[in-house]
Amino acid sequence: MSESALAERFVRLIEATGPISVVHYMAESNARYYASRDPLGAPVPGRDMGGDFVTAPEISQMFGELIGLWLADGWTRAGRPAPVHYVELGPGRGTLARDALGAARRFGLVPEVHLVEASPTLAAVQRGLLPDATWHSDLTTVPEDGALLVVANEFLDALPVRQLIRTAQGWRERMVGLVEGKLAFVAGDRPMDSASDLPEAAEGTIVEACPASAAIVGEVARRLAAQGGAALFVDYGHSSPRTGSTLQAVRAHRKLDALAAPGEADLTTHVDFAALAHVAQAHGARWCGTVEQGAFLRALGIEARADALASAAPEQAEAVATAKDRLVGAEQMGALFKAMALTDPEWPAPAGF
Ligand code: SAH
Repeated sequence: MSESALAERFVRLIEATGPISVVHYMAESNARYYASRDPLGAPVPGRDMGGDFVTAPEISQMFGELIGLWLADGWTRAGRPAPVHYVELGPGRGTLARDALGAARRFGLVPEVHLVEASPTLAAVQRGLLPDATWHSDLTTVPEDGALLVVANEFLDALPVRQLIRTAQGWRERMVGLVEGKLAFVAGDRPMDSASDLPEAAEGTIVEACPASAAIVGEVARRLAAQGGAALFVDYGHSSPRTGSTLQAVRAHRKLDALAAPGEADLTTHVDFAALAHVAQAHGARWCGTVEQGAFLRALGIEARADALASAAPEQAEAVATAKDRLVGAEQMGALFKAMALTDPEWPAPAGF
């Protein structure tokens, strides 16, 4: 028995027409997953109501507040251009936007708010916190006039990757097929040698590429160069290219087999920031660097913000310290997560890079 209705559908599809690509598998699984629930939440011992995973803005208000200050600082030094649009990609519950916009407002930055969200379920949650926002299903309808302040946290990691695997016969696309009636990774039968720049790799080597991320980052870069502004992408990933599959599934705060429960578990991969930096530059933006989340938040003053929150509410001091450690600790999110900034080449150099 498969664990999900979508798994059953994939089995029937593969029986009828043959293996499907990893891109197809991941795209359909995550579309179904995000459309059907709010996956964000803290683990609740002994209960299954705690969501599947927790993100930085849900850990502490400090994360969104510091990003709001980062945006306001660049915008102020750019001469406070108007109109100006806050654009968030994959805003989850809207928590980051609420905290960032609240902090930015104190510096006179009150942008129009545009949320790019594919999931109707999460858009409804966002509407509760951000009633005046405008929703978009992709970037094409975001205004073409005015500076853009673009934010995306744990968005790129959910976009579908293509995987290639080196077999004895050469490079092949990595597919999802059936082995003894169950979903299993298999190699495709069409030669893909021209798609790989590692002709000599050992058998079994896997490389990933994320065409959807490249398309979105390329469009953001093109818009920044044309309209002015800055973008911040925060995600887990690597700053230099790697080999190996990073596809993983998480449900109820635990990892599980990526093929076990499509549509019922969050599928992610590590973001290849080096590839995205090239794409951004090729589309006219300035790549300001990719730094570890811990270093980025420290440069923006998370220590001082944590101290201020703790002295304002001493009974919260321990919770604030724990949250700060989760965000910046090298063993926690501080080193695995990276922040990448892009700007219009004319925009002032951003803080923290
Ligand atoms: N940024 C939030 C949520 C991260 S979860 C946070 O940090 O808490 C990923 C988010 O991206 C969800 O809002 C999900 O619905 C959205 N998403 C996933 N794939 C998408 C796509 N192809 N287009 C637009 N939004 C997408």
